[in-house]
Amino acid sequence: MEKAQDQSRPQPRAGIMDIAAYVPGKSAAPVGVKLHKLSSNENPLGPSPKAIEAAREVAARLDVYPDGSARRLREAIAEAHGLNPANIVCSNGSDEILGLLSQIYLSPGDEAVITEHAFMVYKIYIQTAGATPVEVKEKDERADVDAMLAAVTDRTRIVFLANPNNPTGTYLPFDAVKRLHAGLPGNVLLVLDGAYAEYVRRNDYEAGIELAGSNANVVMTRTFSKLGLGGARIGWMYGPLAIVDAVNRVRGPFNVNATAIEAGIASIRDREHLARSVAHNERWLAWLTGEFEKLGLRVTPSVGNFLLVHFPGIEKHSAAKADDYLTARGYVLRRVAGYGFPNALRMTVGTEEANRGVVAALAEFLKDQS
Ligand SMILES: *Cc1c(COP(=O)(O)O)cnc(C)c1O
Repeated sequence: MEKAQDQSRPQPRAGIMDIAAYVPGKSAAPVGVKLHKLSSNENPLGPSPKAIEAAREVAARLDVYPDGSARRLREAIAEAHGLNPANIVCSNGSDEILGLLSQIYLSPGDEAVITEHAFMVYKIYIQTAGATPVEVKEKDERADVDAMLAAVTDRTRIVFLANPNNPTGTYLPFDAVKRLHAGLPGNVLLVLDGAYAEYVRRNDYEAGIELAGSNANVVMTRTFSKLGLGGARIGWMYGPLAIVDAVNRVRGPFNVNATAIEAGIASIRDREHLARSVAHNERWLAWLTGEFEKLGLRVTPSVGNFLLVHFPGIEKHSAAKADDYLTARGYVLRRVAGYGFPNALRMTVGTEEANRGVVAALAEFLKDQS
């Protein structure tokens, strides 16, 4: 028999209080120290100047509700990627879409497959739906397709794959993603999270447009957050009409605000800003990787706009001590113990000044304590 309900106050549904709340990247440096925020994978070049202008212009019209279907934003996205706008849903950050898909396709007792070091948000939404996250071991800090397929049961309803993954920065080539999809039953939804797709410079990579465009059980999620508009909260999903239809029934009627719509349209049309952002990242990702390795630190090979840096010692040269040392100097990175990396830090590729500053500070840190 059910336990008698405590009637003295409202009670969250079963499982809600077991959820560990998401901890965002820190954003404060000590007083008087210049802050370099390298904790949330934002764009060091900032928003597109055209997006700033568009956001300013819309300010005078903020009394008016936005278009609930974000039609012009969907059309601008569709034009940039060669898609049909009818297959796109926009959202308040792509996190919202991940939550909606979980609400729609997961029931209590169901399972959703995620990887060992997966983006933390998946687990939160799976648990919110009353379902069970099934964490699958990775191989060399990369998703393992065979292990993921082996974890699928008749209770599995969703498989989440961030490609590339955060916080590792590793990716699966398209043939591996195809193999993963081919091994899934038709009633299991494959969510391909391409939050960092724009930054990937690999010929064997495909973000998910091909699979989501030709299968009933695949969607691709994307975001504007890593390209200069994290504060505007714009994400989108591309997928089959039946899934688009279900999401449109459940989402908030005006889930994308007017500022986000206008800034998003201007931003995605600014191809030059995109090209500059990607070129900056390509240059400094390689430079940082090389410099950290020269310092004797292991770096997980990343194709995103961030790197996972592993520290050698628990006693002396630990990630926690390095984090304190860097934060005191204004360099705010991300601790990733909650992602299964107790002795690593994740660093967003920053401005030239920030990148050089972190390398110099870490060189001092490693020297200081040896
Ligand atoms: C940052 C990120 C997102 C989404 O962020 P939004 O700001 O909600 O669009 C989704 N997935 C991964 C893996 C991310 O790192």
